[in-house]
Amino acid sequence: METAKITPMMQQYLRIKERYRDAILFFRLGDFYEMFFEDAERASRILDIALTSRNKSEEAAVPLCGVPYHSAEPYIQKLLEAGHKVAVCEQVEDPRTARGVVQREVVRVITPGTVTAVESLDARGNNFLAAVFRREERFGLAAADITTGEFRCTGLAEEQSLLDEIARIRPSEILVADRDRPLRSRLQKAFPRAHLTAVPEASFSDGAARRLRSGSGPEALRAASAIESYLEANAPEALKVLREIEPYEASRYLVVDETTRANLELVASNRGERGGSLLGLIDRTVTPMGARRLRQWLLYPLLDVAAIEERQDAVQALVDDFDLRRDLRSALGGIQDLERLAGRVASGSASPKDLAAVKEALGRVAVLRRRLEGAPSRLLASIGSRLAELPDVVALLERAIVDQPPFSLKDGNTIREGFDAELDEIRGARAHAKQWIARFEAAERQRTGIASLKVRYNRVFGYYIEVTRANIKAVPPNYLRKQTLVNGERYITPELKEHEAKILNSESLIEKLEQALFAGVREQVASRYAELRATSGALGELDALVSLAEVALSRHFVRPKVDDGLALSIREGRHPVVEEAMGRGAFVPNDCRLDPETTQIVLLTGPNMAGKSTYMRQVALIVILAQMGSFVPASEAAIGLVDRVFTRIGAGDALAQGESTFMVEMKETANILRHATRRSLIVLDEVGRGTSTYDGVSIAWAVAEWLHDLDARPRTLFATHYHELADLPQSKERIKNYNFAVREWQGEIIFLRTLAEGASSRSYGIHVARLAGLPAPVIDRAREILRRLEATSEIPEPSGAAPGPHEAPRQMPLFDTGDRRLREELRKLDVTRLTPLDALNLLHRLSEEAKR
Ligand code: ADP
Ligand code: MG
Repeated sequence: METAKITPMMQQYLRIKERYRDAILFFRLGDFYEMFFEDAERASRILDIALTSRNKSEEAAVPLCGVPYHSAEPYIQKLLEAGHKVAVCEQVEDPRTARGVVQREVVRVITPGTVTAVESLDARGNNFLAAVFRREERFGLAAADITTGEFRCTGLAEEQSLLDEIARIRPSEILVADRDRPLRSRLQKAFPRAHLTAVPEASFSDGAARRLRSGSGPEALRAASAIESYLEANAPEALKVLREIEPYEASRYLVVDETTRANLELVASNRGERGGSLLGLIDRTVTPMGARRLRQWLLYPLLDVAAIEERQDAVQALVDDFDLRRDLRSALGGIQDLERLAGRVASGSASPKDLAAVKEALGRVAVLRRRLEGAPSRLLASIGSRLAELPDVVALLERAIVDQPPFSLKDGNTIREGFDAELDEIRGARAHAKQWIARFEAAERQRTGIASLKVRYNRVFGYYIEVTRANIKAVPPNYLRKQTLVNGERYITPELKEHEAKILNSESLIEKLEQALFAGVREQVASRYAELRATSGALGELDALVSLAEVALSRHFVRPKVDDGLALSIREGRHPVVEEAMGRGAFVPNDCRLDPETTQIVLLTGPNMAGKSTYMRQVALIVILAQMGSFVPASEAAIGLVDRVFTRIGAGDALAQGESTFMVEMKETANILRHATRRSLIVLDEVGRGTSTYDGVSIAWAVAEWLHDLDARPRTLFATHYHELADLPQSKERIKNYNFAVREWQGEIIFLRTLAEGASSRSYGIHVARLAGLPAPVIDRAREILRRLEATSEIPEPSGAAPGPHEAPRQMPLFDTGDRRLREELRKLDVTRLTPLDALNLLHRLSEEAKR
């Protein structure tokens, strides 16, 4: 392109674009954001909007597309989702008074982690921007939500803990040093949905240290610094919203790794939805702050008995007092997202409606505060004392802002009459001039005798007098003709223009003044940001507690006893989500007792569909609920604190979603065996299922022995369909057999769903097959094969002390070497993908063939 042809505005565009080459530049032109060149080509494709061109006539046609500025948010969101950043370039001077090209500047770069538009955010969740710093194998992780102001950081000593913590935070964007390619690609692999942004190494300085009171690892601080410099460059106003950095240690909370969180369906069901998850069940909150807080509590269960009991006391007090609960809920109900509103106030982007919502919220805060006076729980009382009513702010907003303010300041009529004398005077002058015009119209009709004479207004001519063609003869000589229409003429008079000037003048004065006054009010409210933040935090806690009380009542949860011991005892425990799906009454409750002295490992046997997986999950869910301060689905529970919950769900189980390979299964098992602590709760579901029977039995056997012999003696639930393992308790005293029995009744199989002591009958599979109607010869043959198997296979005699490898069982001479074809067919078979019906048909066919 020849430079000569470039207009000054395009020169300005190119100059700005040069600095934001990695973003799509939204260039403000009047009421539109325009995009040019490659940006326009890319955006028009993603946004599905028309691509046109500027300078059509000239050779150098510039591709162009645009979106209206007042509805840009959904377009920005789409571009972010497509993996782009958006640089928003505004006109920073008034175009009406500008000389030459209007000055423009990029005011903000929007990335997935710096989105603030309400429409793009999930009200019940956070939107975190994270940063990871690595020094050798030590990691710093920081996360900030610029809409709520949360800003936390932590140090981690292992990559696995880093990945677990990132998964718990679920950031939408992660900052990583540009030179650390290996880390970047590992993170991208682990979190394919997060947006990874490479930032200069230098931004991981230790600048954040000055903002910090208490100590935290240097890596954590460096990560926090990267967030600060990133925001400074891209969304500077967000820095006003961020709170003090809050250092924390992930190990101070119950650790639930990502696999376990998914297995237990804590915050999302295995279909990725909120419904069907534990969170979906227990979230009865009525404010966004409460929803976010409850989620946080579920993701970070406590390890401190006193803190847990404090929450329990509050839930108990709310359960016991119907009136209190009802009053709190109804006052909380009308409170909008005060946390994010306060953030917008602090960053200077709050609208008139936002301030009205703040006022409304504070009114309700006053009600809540009074209602919590003398509350029968320490935590409730402390929440009450943290609620700031801010009567001066309420009074200011009451005086300054009208009751039903418009969405945008530009719409006028935001500031209430009586708030500012100057504004009132100008508004008076405008009203006066408008009245003059109304009177003028009436007077002119009378004077001219033209009854249809009208004084009107449009943006091009301002005020004018309109006379229809039929009446033109009666027009007085002092009217100045301005425009001729098909059926009439438009006139002005000097007097009319004089008053028009008064109106237009006062209107622009009013707009400016309202803006200034509003900004002043917003600033005054912003000066109370710390109190607003504390208040919204307390509201979130209160809402979460009321929600726990509601759930406790409606789902018949009881208060568990939590202590520093190592035992775990649950009477009539239920899986809350399965119970809810089945309807109350249909679910069969079961007890659980675990302790390191006598029943360290519960070995569960029983056929498929008996209820093993559900039972083990329910125990883990009860522990997590108890440690987040909630009541639990049981008739009685005593929980010795758990510091980690591990789960391993065997490959092939429907819940594992088919993505599990045997390798993944073994890696996860290895992780558990390496990291199990004295306070761990381990749930092993069908370990070793992903491989051949003998391999599987052997691995399951050795794993159970190892866990039993560990000094830490972690409490373990171990489900297996390998009934051979039922011999384990003979040599390992802290392993106890339990089973889920099935019964035969009138030719049907009945799952009793009740846990019983002892191992399940060995012939269950064949028993069930008979009940299912497999031909008698097949059953007989199966029994015969089973006898042969049991006679020849050697389940190893358990070793005495140290866990170690056992002698592998010999391969069974199940088929003659001649039966190659049969053997080949069996080898290719993936039993885990077979339905019971397929299995029966197959067995039938095989047996027919064998008889031939
Ligand atoms: P397993 O792991 O032994 O194969 P599951 O735990 O997957 O069995 O349970 C199979 C089904 O049985 C569940 O989907 C649920 O519908 C039902 N179920 C499990 N436990 C119970 C119970 N305690 N009461 C009633 N139904 C149950
Ligand atoms: Mg199962």
